Parts: sequence; structure tokens; C-alpha cells
Amino acid sequence: MAEQSYDRLDGVIWYDGKLVPWCDATMHVLTHGLHYASCVFEGERAYGGDIFKCTAHSERLKRSAQVLDFEIPYTVAEIDAAKRLVLEKNGQQDAYVRPVAWRGSEMMGVSAQNNTIHLAIATWQWPSYFDPAQRAKGIRLDLADYRRPDPATAPVLAKAAGLYMICTISKHKAERKGYADAMMLDWQGRVAECTGANIFFIRDGKIHTPIADCFLDGITRRTAMELARKRGIEVIERRILPDELTQFSECFITGSAAEVTAVSEIAHWRFTPGNITQQLASDYTAEVQPKGKAAAA
Ligand code: PMP
Repeated sequence: MAEQSYDRLDGVIWYDGKLVPWCDATMHVLTHGLHYASCVFEGERAYGGDIFKCTAHSERLKRSAQVLDFEIPYTVAEIDAAKRLVLEKNGQQDAYVRPVAWRGSEMMGVSAQNNTIHLAIATWQWPSYFDPAQRAKGIRLDLADYRRPDPATAPVLAKAAGLYMICTISKHKAERKGYADAMMLDWQGRVAECTGANIFFIRDGKIHTPIADCFLDGITRRTAMELARKRGIEVIERRILPDELTQFSECFITGSAAEVTAVSEIAHWRFTPGNITQQLASDYTAEVQPKGKAAAA
């Protein structure tokens, strides 16, 4: 069966306060968000009908918009309720949740002071971010040419559409070379993250991860760090240079979509998915289970 285009799925989308049939959730070609990237979004997952870290994602969405100098006209509680409503109306238990907010069409230039702010929320089935066969043995990453930008040149801590331009270019290039994704360095040449996930390394039983000061400090990143510390595993946030990558035995990436995924290669560097990665992946799977239902299951 041919893959169905995302504008033609079944179900409903929450669009500016109303539930509309999936195919009717459209916008005009003259939309500021499209031309000038005045657009922020979230990526979340629901497990067993519960959205993992639902409120934290809604808060980040609001914050991302504020960084882009606009205010989403709904409270965090309203966004939380809207996400749950769409999930319920679409009859989904395990799904990806995608809120997106953008500037509308009233002004069509760099300045868009008076534009209406729109918010839409869609949910869909999205089983695994990476090919499950590849995922089991660890995914292979390319090294991206583009680097995460200097915080002085872009709103790097927002989950803003414009920041994904270099991610899509890098991921396409990696995929053409047969890799699953690409790891990006930062503007200073240090290890940063992947095109849609944060990165971790393991050496001598300790976890090392770059300081999230010029890329998204992922909600899954924080969760994985917490889970590791609960297991008594030390987590060190520090500057990591690419030259050091030969010294690490394991590597994994984290993200709401990617969850905890082992990495076997980054360009010419090699890693062997091991116990700590496996432990954290299974701790994460347990952590995302709906609270209250986990005990009963
Ligand atoms: N970095 C980038 C560029 C991402 O797109 C994502 C996914 N949102 C992440 C990191 C991980 O963030 P989170 O764990 O909050 O999904």
C-alpha cells in the first residue's frame, strides 16, 4: 500500500479552537509562518492514551513562541486539554502529537506585528522513528556539514521551524549515503546533537553529553539523565570534541520521536550498543507508560 500523504489522513485536527475534518485543516499560501518561518511546533508521543510530559511540551511551545516574539492565545492548560481531545477524538492510544503555532496572513513582510497567531494540533500513528531492524543493532550516523548556530545568530533554544532548515538538508544528505541520520557539531566545532534528537556517549560506566547551550535541551534528554542518575550512573554534561569520540564505547540518542536509540557508527567512529544503553532504553519504555496503568499491567 502506498504511504498516504499527511494532508490526507483520516481523523480530526484541532484548529484555532475547533475540531475540523483532517482534510479541511488548511491555510493560505500567503502565510507569514510559511514565508518567514514564524512558526514553532512540538513533537510528543502518547502511550496507552496518555501524552508523555504533556504539560512540559505545552510550556515549551509557549516559550518557543515567545522567543519568536509572539504569544500563543491559549494557556498551557488549554493546550493540554486540546491535545487530549484530539487524541481521544482520533481514537488513538499510541500516537505522535504535533502542535504547531504560526503567524497568519494580515501582514506579509518581515514585520508582522498584527498578524493573527494560529494554533493547530494533529495526532497520528507513528510507530518507530528509525527502521526497527537498524535500531536493534544501533543506527548509523553521518557527520553533518552544517553546524548548530551560535546563540547570537539564531533563537537556538526554541523549537522553531526555521532551525530545521539545516537539519533537513543534513538528514537528506546522510540518507543518500545510506545513513539513518546525521550528527551535527556546534558553531565552535564541538559535538552538539542530531537533526532531531540529543546525543550521549558512554565511557567507563559514565555518561557524557554536550551542554545544551546552543541546541534544544530535549525533554527526553532530561528524562534519560534522570533515569540514569536513579540507577546510580554518573551523567557528565560537558564540552565534547569530535577527536574524543574514539574513547567512547557506547553512544545513543534521545528524542520524543527517537525515544532512546542506540548508535553503532558516526562517520568513521564505531560504538557497540551495550548494557547501559539497553538499560536506559528499557527504563525509558517503563517511564513513558501511563501512570497508574503501569502497576495494573
Ligand atoms: N534536538 C532537536 C533538533 C529535536 O528536533 C528534538 C526533538 N524535539 C530534540 C533535540 C529532542 O527533544 P525532545 O526530547 O524534547 O523531543
